[in-house]
Amino acid sequence: MALGFYDLPYLLNIPGEKLPKVKHYYDEPHPYFGQHIVVIGAANSAVDVALETWRKGAFVTMVIREDEIRQSVKYWSRPDIINRIADGSIKAYFLSELTRITPKSVEINTPDGLVKLKNDFVMAMTGYQPPFEFMTSAGIKFNDDPDRTPVYDENTMESNVKNLYLAGVLCGGLKTNKWFIENSRVHAEMIIRDIFKKINAG
Ligand SMILES: Cc1cc2nc3c(=O)[nH]c(=O)nc-3n(C[C@H](O)[C@H](O)[C@H](O)COP(=O)(O)OP(=O)(O)OC[C@H]3O[C@@H](n4cnc5c(N)ncnc54)[C@H](O)[C@@H]3O)c2cc1C
Repeated sequence: MALGFYDLPYLLNIPGEKLPKVKHYYDEPHPYFGQHIVVIGAANSAVDVALETWRKGAFVTMVIREDEIRQSVKYWSRPDIINRIADGSIKAYFLSELTRITPKSVEINTPDGLVKLKNDFVMAMTGYQPPFEFMTSAGIKFNDDPDRTPVYDENTMESNVKNLYLAGVLCGGLKTNKWFIENSRVHAEMIIRDIFKKINAG
């Protein structure tokens, strides 16, 4: 099982989220030229989307729950977005949350009260979560930790279910920045080695 965690976005759970203009996956910047877009989030995806769409001519507003752009944002992107916000090119509402989306507007709860903006697209870059339900249905158990890491043997990658192996970012549970491409390729080798060992053992 190497299912990653990009299939289940964290939802906003607000009115209007199901409108076709609300996107949990970013495609490319050109369709947003001249459009009023709201980007939700303050991590790498949100920052990339805000910068790219703004550079291709969109009117960009970021809505950010925290009081700053996340510290973990790539070191070459973070100063860029902070400066675009500081010079007013990209508008940002910190300590704020979207509360309602309509076909032509959005409402934002800000520390200074409710703000209503003209809006064409909402880019909800709110992150994703592993398919816990699917994993549970396969019999996989989870450790009693806040990240809900699945139970597996770190030497073989075999889960608590016999002959069911785990690989990739899924192994980190909610800690989705623990495993990535470079450090999880080794999982495949460990799994194949263990399968061969079982075959050779008869
Ligand atoms: C914009 C961006 C940039 C990134 N840059 C880097 C980088 O520079 N370096 C780096 O190391 N990492 C980077 N990452 C992270 C990297 O993409 C992931 O860590 C990596 O893809 C995880 O690999 P994986 O095989 O565990 O899962 P994934 O690559 O997510 O693959 C999971 C696959 O399983 C499929 N799947 C899910 N559920 C089911 C199901 N029920 N049935 C069948 N198939 C299913 C999915 O469709 C998908 O094809 C980046 C991620 C993003 C979004």
